[in-house]
Amino acid sequence: MDKDTGNVKDCHKESLNFIEEIIEQDIKNGLKQIVTRFPPEPNGYLHIGHAKSICLNFGLAEKYSGKCNLRFDDTNPVKEDTEYVDSFKEDVKWLGFDWAGEYYASDYFGQLYDWAEKLIYRGLAYVDDQSQEEIRGTRGTVTVPGKESPYRSRSVEENLDLFRRMKNGEFKDGEKVLRAKIDMSHPNMLMRDPIMYRIIHTDHHRTGNQWCIYPMYDYAHGESDSIEKVTHSICTLEFDVHRPLYNWFIENLEIFPSRQYEFARLNLNYTVMSKRKLLQLVKENYVTGWDDPRMPTIVALRRRGYTPKSIRMFAEKVGVAKRDNVIDIGLLEFCVREDLNKRALRRMAVLDPVKLVITNYPEEKTEIINCVNNPEDSAEGTREVIFGRELYIEREDFMENPPKKYFRLSPGGEVRLRYSYIIKCQEVIKDKDENIIELRCTYDDQSHGGGSSDGRKVKGIIHWVNAKEAKIAEVRLFDRLFDKENPENVGEDGSFIDNLNPDSLKVVEAYVEPSLYASKVGDKFQFERLGYFCKDKNSTPEKPVFNRTVTLKDTWAKVSKK
Ligand code: ATP
Ligand code: MG
Repeated sequence: MDKDTGNVKDCHKESLNFIEEIIEQDIKNGLKQIVTRFPPEPNGYLHIGHAKSICLNFGLAEKYSGKCNLRFDDTNPVKEDTEYVDSFKEDVKWLGFDWAGEYYASDYFGQLYDWAEKLIYRGLAYVDDQSQEEIRGTRGTVTVPGKESPYRSRSVEENLDLFRRMKNGEFKDGEKVLRAKIDMSHPNMLMRDPIMYRIIHTDHHRTGNQWCIYPMYDYAHGESDSIEKVTHSICTLEFDVHRPLYNWFIENLEIFPSRQYEFARLNLNYTVMSKRKLLQLVKENYVTGWDDPRMPTIVALRRRGYTPKSIRMFAEKVGVAKRDNVIDIGLLEFCVREDLNKRALRRMAVLDPVKLVITNYPEEKTEIINCVNNPEDSAEGTREVIFGRELYIEREDFMENPPKKYFRLSPGGEVRLRYSYIIKCQEVIKDKDENIIELRCTYDDQSHGGGSSDGRKVKGIIHWVNAKEAKIAEVRLFDRLFDKENPENVGEDGSFIDNLNPDSLKVVEAYVEPSLYASKVGDKFQFERLGYFCKDKNSTPEKPVFNRTVTLKDTWAKVSKK
């Protein structure tokens, strides 16, 4: 018995990621409630990497009955905007999370300022008149210690006076900075008297012209965590070198001891993920906007037809690693297929139509076929599809000179039309340029619903739409936005822009089942044999537009191996 219990425990332990292990240990040691936060900088739209961080921070709070705050890290007035703030909130909600508190680093400017004075009082911060370039130039290198600033030994009174005058706007941008007084020969370069405040005479999107000095990330971040009593401040690996500084401020200010933990950021192949680069794609019109369905942003994934569940499943599968790696975008596609297979209604659409006439089917006759909406979910019921003499099928479902084992339509060959009859191709009609314009077929009137007149079976099943009933729709087919696995891997003069895939968007006019006209923007469908599709916001009552979210099978894996 004991052994059994032990096994269960071991199992449980193995399935914990390293952050969960830390949290469980902290709880054992008496921690009452965990507090995490998601702290984006409002300088662009959130992308799939942020989604990973959202799922992690909010997910931990959910799992351990804690709290997760949404904090806008808005300490740089130059790059930030409220447009982004609103989109972040929408994205987090869409992913299915709710924040305990909505905070802004800019709300803490007053407190941060007071704490800066406290450090000055204690001789731990000073005003430096050197330019940022001079400061950078005297920082030394990993092997050479930095040079102390000639202003480093200013008195507390002088520092206080100068810092107050910085705040009051008496100096121009770049004339002075406030630096922490730590150690110019510290082995960690970030500890060599880092800048805490710089002067920027720019209005802030929330505080207006109230401030002309703004705190640096390293000074604002840990303090903001501490103000919110964040217990586990989770960030990406590149911040591990910042941790000593994070702790230094907290220890010297004697404030709530938030702790920072680092995990590997999410990297995906065939895309770029920094907001700066995504902004460039938008500004220079390589894409139609932040929500262009080829972008890795959450707004774009949503528009393309991704579901919150598929993204959360993806974040779960990626896991929480301590070492950087690159995740195959195929995994994200796998997750959305999994989810859409369960929920998407099945419909028929023909993307590249060729006419098919059943010559022995009576001209005026039609038949109503009840088609299952979703074989994975009987609650979705059935719909009526009208069968008739003239249909459209997919051009690529016919081959004039087929290879062996070709199971679709060919001259003299038979195929089953989805949900209906077996047909046989009798004649191929071409125009003067040898283009196939019509396929003349006969049907086996005993073959409806799976059988046939003499018990024979046919292997191929193809989809179709009724030529009289079908309606036009615009369908957007996407490929990778970049055709290089690592688009950022470019030579000295190269740019990631050079690696854009020129064929990442193909627009076609398709014939679709009329029932698709009644759908709403955002509705998701499986077009049989073609993939999953989502109705786009560019749809009009006259012409719906559908985005292909993903094909049914992973065609890319095969192509890229060639
Ligand atoms: P970007 O360069 O894309 O703007 P960032 O790290 O500067 O990325 P922030 O808005 O500052 O973006 O980040 C908000 C939070 O999201 C941070 O905690 C950050 O660590 C996390 N984050 C950003 N990118 C990723 C990623 N690719 N994988 C996991 N977490 C990420
Ligand atoms: Mg950033």
